[in-house]
Amino acid sequence: MLIPTEPIGSIPRPLELIDAVSKHGGDDAVLEPLYDEAIRDTIERFEATGSPVITDGEQRKYHNFWTYCVHGLPNTAPDGFKIPFEAGHTRRMLRLTGGPFRYQRRADVYLDDALRYAKVPVKQAVISPSALSLMYPADEIPGYSREEFLHDLLDEHETEIRNCLQKGAFKVQVDFTEGRLAVKLDPTGELLRRFIEMNNMALSRFSTEDRQRIGVHTCPGGDRDSTHSADVDYAELLPSLFELKAGNFYVSLAGESDRVRVLKIIREHMKPDQRIFVGVVAPIDPRIETPEEVRDRTLEAAEHIPIEQLGTTDDCGFAPFCDDTSTSRDTAFAKIQARVEGTELASRILGDN
Ligand SMILES: [Zn+2]
Repeated sequence: MLIPTEPIGSIPRPLELIDAVSKHGGDDAVLEPLYDEAIRDTIERFEATGSPVITDGEQRKYHNFWTYCVHGLPNTAPDGFKIPFEAGHTRRMLRLTGGPFRYQRRADVYLDDALRYAKVPVKQAVISPSALSLMYPADEIPGYSREEFLHDLLDEHETEIRNCLQKGAFKVQVDFTEGRLAVKLDPTGELLRRFIEMNNMALSRFSTEDRQRIGVHTCPGGDRDSTHSADVDYAELLPSLFELKAGNFYVSLAGESDRVRVLKIIREHMKPDQRIFVGVVAPIDPRIETPEEVRDRTLEAAEHIPIEQLGTTDDCGFAPFCDDTSTSRDTAFAKIQARVEGTELASRILGDN
């Protein structure tokens, strides 16, 4: 295909798995056959959509995309940072209570499972250092400074990405949903600036070749068909976003009210060595897009972004939080199929020109 297309990551979990997790917690050995079946089925259905790149649907990220790596750590408390969603609910992360900071698990263990079943390339999503930095409390932890924490955090994150690359991830996607949220939390832009700087400290540790396999995902959040920062103007985020030293960007766009304006901002600020995957289907919209709609959105994007730097994606994962049942698996795969078919239609038209 002339225009590459990739998913973001999560697929709604089977209801039996969600029930079992709520009954037994996510780590109980009794869940193993359910996880295994969920991963096998997800990969089979993903491949059936024709998607040239797939994921494991994050079936084993049993809390969410944000804190999968730290759940179960003994040096944490439950009363951490709150993510407020438009629908009125909040999601909460863990608070760090002491050092040293180490991941409980790294995403490359998920990749091991996925690669056992997959016949096509698999990408792996990991959480950004800036998201996890919100675990450190406002008041300094005695004996474990914020600087020591950031040092440990960057090391853990780097190791996680290196493991994924080594094991053969087609791409490693750093989830950066808190980028747009940062502008809402701190309209002066200072928090966003710190986030970009922190993530660049990690990205700078990789070679140019590695960075062509590393991407960054931005979105206004997606949980129970609701967002946390869709009201923040993209113009506040995008210029800083493309300062990140990554080769790929996965930018939610289908759900934006003025896509052309966003495309113009992207065009102005993207760098020559960056590929921009624009969102052409919206997971939080219950309606399934048609391939023709996706084709038209892709052609619209191609009017602004050079074809050799363009790709398509989903606006976000279909269930970033594991207990989110607002979208069915059937709907998620139907939307992915529309993305693949529509991108192919656009590729043919662009290829003929
Ligand atoms: Zn997202």
